[in-house]
Amino acid sequence: MHHSKYDVIIIGGSFSGLSAAMALGRSMRSVLVIDSGRPCNRQTPATHNVITLDGEKPGNIILAAKKQVLLYDTVFLINDEAKSARQEGPDFVVTTASGQSQKARKLIITSGIKDIMPDIEGFTECWGISILHCPYCHGYEVINKKTGILSIDEMAFDFTKMISHWTKHLTLFTNGKSPLSEKQKEVLKDRNIKVVESELLSIHHEDGYVKTVNFKDDSTLSLEALYTRLPFEQNSGIPEALGCKINDDGYIEIDEFQRTSISGLYAAGDNTTPFRSVSAAMASGNMAGAFVNKELIEEDF
Ligand SMILES: Cc1cc2nc3c(=O)[nH]c(=O)nc-3n(C[C@H](O)[C@H](O)[C@H](O)COP(=O)(O)OP(=O)(O)OC[C@H]3O[C@@H](n4cnc5c(N)ncnc54)[C@H](O)[C@@H]3O)c2cc1C
Repeated sequence: MHHSKYDVIIIGGSFSGLSAAMALGRSMRSVLVIDSGRPCNRQTPATHNVITLDGEKPGNIILAAKKQVLLYDTVFLINDEAKSARQEGPDFVVTTASGQSQKARKLIITSGIKDIMPDIEGFTECWGISILHCPYCHGYEVINKKTGILSIDEMAFDFTKMISHWTKHLTLFTNGKSPLSEKQKEVLKDRNIKVVESELLSIHHEDGYVKTVNFKDDSTLSLEALYTRLPFEQNSGIPEALGCKINDDGYIEIDEFQRTSISGLYAAGDNTTPFRSVSAAMASGNMAGAFVNKELIEEDF
């Protein structure tokens, strides 16, 4: 890279990070995007619920975005993993897996989250294909299909209620003793929604498309789609190591301008919000880019 110091380093070059990079490139800022190339939706055959991009392969969206962003000659991108970061006066120094150290005045963390897969054989292979995190993204494609919901906590009832809008063939898997109250059980029964407490063993699938679910008690059930919300962790430990406040749900705390609790450090995208969508990630990245630029103008004017 040609810079001894960039205006901005962005860790994570996916929907939120590239959106921030675009706003900054168009503001003539020197930007280094460090991206390890593993967006959370990479296994999904088609992205939905994003206008002008409905049905697109996620990889194609990212490719097009990288191409557009790199047309701005102050924007640089490296395929690398940010390993650590430290503050040096008002600046940030980021060190990557390949051993580079790069400095910038501001840092934006758009590194996303990592879904933690349960120990159920076949689950990972179906993730994003027929095991779904969100009905807005993928519910239309499985309307009225034989659908399961895997939810083991107090969200189980509300999650089931929501998905019942998309399909009438619904079974709730609680993977052990049900967290439902008697009243909730009655409501589900009235609506013909089955509750299965047997523990899941494996998922039989063809190329990621669920066919049957096998339980530890030897029972099986045929299925075409499964919704679940997985536990997650931050992809990068850098925000926490720099002292960013992380909220109880595991998201980086930000204000309405995407500022974290550390001055000069911003965050956007999935690592900051449970509202997980491509358009939301783009919007928050775009906001972060604009407000980082504003902060630089304020400092320099
Ligand atoms: C299976 C699945 C399917 C989905 N389908 C849809 C859909 O159809 N429509 C929709 O609107 N939304 C969908 N979503 C949600 C959407 O994909 C996310 O909201 C969006 O990807 C978030 O963008 P992001 O930039 O915050 O993070 P991500 O897209 O996850 O990207 C994070 C980037 O940061 C990089 N990174 C991480 N750590 C480091 C590091 N230390 N150094 C350098 N780089 C790093 C990663 O490699 C990655 O490129 C889906 C999500 C999942 C999980």
